[in-house]
Amino acid sequence: MPARSKLYRSLRVANTLVFSVAMALVLDHSAAAARGPLIATPHWETGHRNLVVVDKTGDPEWHQATRHAVEVWRAALAPTDVRISWEQGEGECTPDGTRIAICEAPHSGLGDVHNQGREGVANVGFTRGHSSAAVLVVCGDCRLDGQRRRVVAAHEMGHALGLSHSLRPTSVMFPTGSGDGPDRLDLAQLREMYDHVDVEERCALFNLRWGGFCV
Ligand SMILES: [Zn+2]
Ligand SMILES: [Zn+2]
Repeated sequence: MPARSKLYRSLRVANTLVFSVAMALVLDHSAAAARGPLIATPHWETGHRNLVVVDKTGDPEWHQATRHAVEVWRAALAPTDVRISWEQGEGECTPDGTRIAICEAPHSGLGDVHNQGREGVANVGFTRGHSSAAVLVVCGDCRLDGQRRRVVAAHEMGHALGLSHSLRPTSVMFPTGSGDGPDRLDLAQLREMYDHVDVEERCALFNLRWGGFCV
């Protein structure tokens, strides 16, 4: 069906551009802090892959959900050099490198998409094509049950790791966040992103450079 394949193609394009509004449904994300070029699969650079998720919601129900989501992604990332851990924190929800803050905001403060509102938002910043900071905001007054909180937390964390939306309802990265974890293809995509090692071009010994030459 041509119409359908055209839709599929445009969804794929939207999926590739991580911060597309076209894919925005109940859960979504924006690029508040985007600097530098966006690449197809933004990811954390080699040497910046010890991620700490700092839950600053002050809400025990969110604590449970975000902790669970960290476990899910930790298992998924085990074959790679990405390490992800959880801790409880407080204070401002400000971007802080590999420390990924999670904060709570009222539903009305999460932005509205097609009058559906959102349950969570991921803001990911980039520097020279690599993820450089992430702040996740979850709904404080949506009356979500434990299962839904786990899905929202896992979905937004998936964005923070570099995954965009999936068209597969089996994936937690489905726009409305169905499924309760990454599916096989999400795992393959993660593997591809993080099997890649960023090799910094170093000058011998002292790594000093002058006018394009090593000195
Ligand atoms: Zn999303
Ligand atoms: Zn890279």
